[in-house]
Amino acid sequence: MQSQYSQLSASSVAIIGGGIAGATAAVHFAELGLNVTLIEKKPSLVSGPPICHLHAGGNLYREISTEQCLELLKQSIDTARLYPQTINNRPTVIAVPYADGGTPEELYERLISIQSAYKQLVVEDERNKVLGEPEDYYRFYSRNEIEALAEKQQPAEPKTFDDWMIPFAKHADLNSLRFPVVVVQEPGWSVFRIAASAMLTLEQRSNCQLMLGTKVVDLKEQDGWLIECQTEAGERTSVKADFLINACGYETGHIDDLADKPRDRLVEFKAAYVTKWPECQDLWPEVIFHGPRGTPNGMAQLTPYPNGVFQLHGMTKDITLFDEGLVASCSGSSQPKLPNKLEKKIITGWDEATVLARSRRAIEHMARFVPDYKQAHEFGTPLFGAQQIPGNDETLRAADVTFSGKNYARMEVVKGSSALEAAIKMVEHWNLYRYESQSVEALHPVTMSLDAQAVERKAKQIAEDRAYPQELAEYYGM
Ligand SMILES: Cc1cc2nc3c(=O)[nH]c(=O)nc-3n(C[C@H](O)[C@H](O)[C@H](O)COP(=O)(O)OP(=O)(O)OC[C@H]3O[C@@H](n4cnc5c(N)ncnc54)[C@H](O)[C@@H]3O)c2cc1C
Repeated sequence: MQSQYSQLSASSVAIIGGGIAGATAAVHFAELGLNVTLIEKKPSLVSGPPICHLHAGGNLYREISTEQCLELLKQSIDTARLYPQTINNRPTVIAVPYADGGTPEELYERLISIQSAYKQLVVEDERNKVLGEPEDYYRFYSRNEIEALAEKQQPAEPKTFDDWMIPFAKHADLNSLRFPVVVVQEPGWSVFRIAASAMLTLEQRSNCQLMLGTKVVDLKEQDGWLIECQTEAGERTSVKADFLINACGYETGHIDDLADKPRDRLVEFKAAYVTKWPECQDLWPEVIFHGPRGTPNGMAQLTPYPNGVFQLHGMTKDITLFDEGLVASCSGSSQPKLPNKLEKKIITGWDEATVLARSRRAIEHMARFVPDYKQAHEFGTPLFGAQQIPGNDETLRAADVTFSGKNYARMEVVKGSSALEAAIKMVEHWNLYRYESQSVEALHPVTMSLDAQAVERKAKQIAEDRAYPQELAEYYGM
């Protein structure tokens, strides 16, 4: 449905790469009624590196500026409104172990700023209240309060912070932690339900041409762009477009090289492990145990799903991080080169022994803070991949889009929640549509019409096709 106030461009837009960045841009452009082609080499959308956390406030990253946290907050709220069926509504606990060397007080000032920004966004538009009441955005717990919660039984449907803190109180090794601990309304995010939402929307928009299983192999800039593609069956096709968007994630540099649009960037390979804790009866919040990145005490992250399935990150070199896993572009190419052994993991997958060894280490790392986690076992293929970080600051987390020439853009999202803002910036920069202060909901009628059960069904099918447990696609939360 086209707004009567908008000014629709007859221009055509081609997007290379159907990860969360390219797929979200395609959803947004298609919903505006623009003529868009999305070219993705894999058989389905949003199948790049994992996404489990919305980063609604950036509180997991102590090293980033408050400005980046506020940007992530705003972007996350808009994204939760765009993809309402993809959010797992449960909070995140942030604990600072003695082994970390930091203090919980460091989190305090920033939380106040983020809470006040959230309050303001809700005052501006009640629909921004996707993270609960602003007054309840976070809460600190003393050791006494946690010990009192350890005596309680978790209700079948946890609602309050107290309810969610009960499993943490019962199972975390409180002697290893500095107090207070904080709980914050940063929800989870399901990569499979994002993939399902984007696919279901684009399948309904006849102004979006979806070219799956099609790889871009060459580019020519000639009064717009001529994009040469090759299908999985080896057939060559070409696409003409006025505007070209490079949304190739960690492979963005290859397309920059073909387009002759140089750019500095970093690429980092990381992995998280899928585990099952069969004895676990409670509904956990996400839990972050802080620790210095890349050291044996690196941060441990527990991300809950239904039926005792948990995804684990351990920011040590032998769990989530890898030797030579962070690489930079050079003067000859905008594409950073990962070591062959890591590139091979992306292309052909993992060998069973490495999956087992790294998953076990992830479990042991978590058991340092949650001793009963020793009962957990490895539960299938890791969630892994490489992500780009534009420029040369490896701590950058809020980034969106850059332009080169008059009709070439690269989406350079580090966190998935930046994708919608990047898409809006491209529309504005190229004057493709005139926004008239319509809401996220009004701009995306097809996405808004998606049914939660249909999204979950499709997400489970995608999880099965990619050989991941169904639980990763199911809704989890209050
Ligand atoms: C372990 C790990 C955990 C993470 N956790 C989170 C999290 O919790 N929350 C969060 O927001 N972010 C998280 N991230 C980051 C996030 O996954 C990435 O930033 C995000 O997926 C980037 O999306 P993208 O669309 O830019 O790239 P991608 O998802 O990599 O998509 C790029 C697409 O381009 C396609 N492509 C490439 N070359 C071509 C070509 N020549 N022709 C056609 N298609 C092509 C690829 O097949 C791919 O599908 C995590 C990353 C990792 C590694």
